[in-house]
Amino acid sequence: MFVRDWLLIGLFWFGLPMPVGAEAVTLSCYGQMKQGGLVLCETANTDAVLVDNGTREYEIPVNENGIATIGIHRKADLQLTVTAKSDPKVTESLSLTARDDPFRTIDGLDCDKIDARTEEQKAHASRSWVKKQTAFKTFANGEGARNGFIRPSDGPASSPFGPARKYIGVGKDGKPCDRTSVHQGYDIAIPVGTEIIAPAPGTVTLGDPDLYYEGGTVFLDHGDGLVSVFLHMSEVDVAAGDKVEAGDRLGASGNTGRTSGPHLHWAVKWRNPGTSERGGDFYIDPALLLDLSPAP
Ligand SMILES: [Zn+2]
Repeated sequence: MFVRDWLLIGLFWFGLPMPVGAEAVTLSCYGQMKQGGLVLCETANTDAVLVDNGTREYEIPVNENGIATIGIHRKADLQLTVTAKSDPKVTESLSLTARDDPFRTIDGLDCDKIDARTEEQKAHASRSWVKKQTAFKTFANGEGARNGFIRPSDGPASSPFGPARKYIGVGKDGKPCDRTSVHQGYDIAIPVGTEIIAPAPGTVTLGDPDLYYEGGTVFLDHGDGLVSVFLHMSEVDVAAGDKVEAGDRLGASGNTGRTSGPHLHWAVKWRNPGTSERGGDFYIDPALLLDLSPAP
């Protein structure tokens, strides 16, 4: 056999990108690369991605459209590595933008509404807690974030996601009270009775007119682990199991539960659909979902 023939055999063999039968593994991530943001990774030929943010490693399943939906914690490390589970060589290193959330003090808290004090209030609060935890454990299928989100109501944004807030007030007994919390949602200042619409398609997993802290509440599961939470509503017009499209009416805004005035509190929780362990779930910034860059 001539040398040229060996060369041709070599070219034939090594020129093939993959052994016959194997498909190329791909990974391409886009979205809001910011603390509190959301990253969508389009993949091929892997059923999960491995995420490493420096302090935590976890696995996120890829949905039937080849997309892995990765929530970014508001305190996440600024470097995130995403790797295809089926091929460790297929990996992307993402640099995240840091948040700079302020600290605010808010006066005028109704101390008697903060903590459940009477037996009846305590029972109401614990029933409400069970309803929320049960809803957060259910997962619906849906298109997730890939077609973007719209604002659930017109009206000025009155309080963004992220700031730590210290509420102070005086109770009926004349004693001062305070509570510090991180604002985990996006507030829209609108009068009681303003229509609330679905920001993206989804399945209702909780519709309750009277949770203790939250008041009238709707949970809307968009799929891929993303659930929108709407609080303080005066009317709840949907029930668990209802399927809605973006723009469909969910109810009306109000001033129910623990509030300092009429507004809609819209929050979005990211949950990893690949685990039954709910301790790693967290809220992300809804405003960033209104500006999700499309796939490149
Ligand atoms: Zn709020």
